[in-house]
Amino acid sequence: MEKFKIAFIGLGLIGGSIAMRIRKKFPDAEIVALNRSDATLKSALADGIINNGTHEIDDSFRNCDYIFLSAPVDTNISFLEKLKPFLTEKTILTDAGSVKGKIHKAVNDILPDAHFIGGHPMAGSEKSGYANANDHLIENAYYILTPSDNVTDDEVENYKAFVTKLDSIPLVLSPKDHDYVTAAVSHMPHIVAYSLVQTVMETDSPEEYMKMIAAGGFKDITRIASSDATMWEQICLENPENIRILIDEFMQRMRRFDDFIKDANGSELHKSFDEIKNYRNSIRDGRKGALPKIYDLHCDIIDEAGAIATIATILSTQGISMKNIGIIHNRTYEQGALHIEFYDEASKSKASQTLSRHGYTVFPD
Ligand code: NAD
Repeated sequence: MEKFKIAFIGLGLIGGSIAMRIRKKFPDAEIVALNRSDATLKSALADGIINNGTHEIDDSFRNCDYIFLSAPVDTNISFLEKLKPFLTEKTILTDAGSVKGKIHKAVNDILPDAHFIGGHPMAGSEKSGYANANDHLIENAYYILTPSDNVTDDEVENYKAFVTKLDSIPLVLSPKDHDYVTAAVSHMPHIVAYSLVQTVMETDSPEEYMKMIAAGGFKDITRIASSDATMWEQICLENPENIRILIDEFMQRMRRFDDFIKDANGSELHKSFDEIKNYRNSIRDGRKGALPKIYDLHCDIIDEAGAIATIATILSTQGISMKNIGIIHNRTYEQGALHIEFYDEASKSKASQTLSRHGYTVFPD
């Protein structure tokens, strides 16, 4: 098995999760991490994830196979100059950032000889920090690679093979395509989610009836509006052209729906909804995409004392951990009175089979 030497700058949710996955798949890898917080480095050392922790670029960055820039983009850029003496011909410099244009330009300006292949694992969560990292976050997730002009086809193939061994799915795009595609399926949807929540927040009655019945489906479809404000401020400012083009596209469609409704044009509304529904149903599931995936199911229960406790007991005796469990009071968007969230697909699937075996009606999607 290859004995890689790998360094991380930033060991938070994404850097930590990639490092954990590498440790799991390549137990002999030598992993070095630079991080601001001492507590994180201590935890990662105690967990056996890293071999060495540091607060600055030092000799431990020598002779790396891969260096992952996995701090916020501006922080990553601030470290480029200091990395210069430590990059060798075999070192692939990569990042994990959500926007690619800015980091490609910075690497090109500051480290024109670096063998840089941008990277973006299509996995994440609303949470941040090493404490929320796990060794399966990037599993079965698309992992976009954006090679610079300075790398060979072999280097790209090797990186793709490395990503595949981590059980992610490599997808090579140009930085330009990456930033347009992710603006459509991740960046603009975050702004739509923030706007939906803001609409309720600012138009609700003093009694807050909207907020009261927003539990359940509305909360689910706006889940990404709980994302970290600083990170999304940065993403919007790093990818402004693409995001603005797609906001405009979105607003044109909102205006078109507004016209159909104003003109009481039922046939056009129906035609559009039908086309959109078919397209939406054709989106493949099962793999992680640009937005964090949730593993949940709904289940019918009779509202009687101990009903939730019975389900919790059935699942725990099977060793299935739940992330969240609760009664859905507003069932506009889903079937089943009980909503249960799990940590991964395997737990969800096992829970679905177990509950069905016990006679419960389960709605997996
Ligand atoms: P995070 O806040 O969980 O982790 C960032 C890490 O960088 C932290 O450990 C922090 O201590 C460290 N750091 C920050 N400033 C530092 C500095 N000046 N010196 C040393 N260390 C410093 O963030 P994250 O969610 O892991 O995001 C990291 C990168 O991954 C970002 O570029 C983000 O765009 C990208 N990304 C995030 C997600 C997501 O859903 N969170 C998904 C894909 C990619």
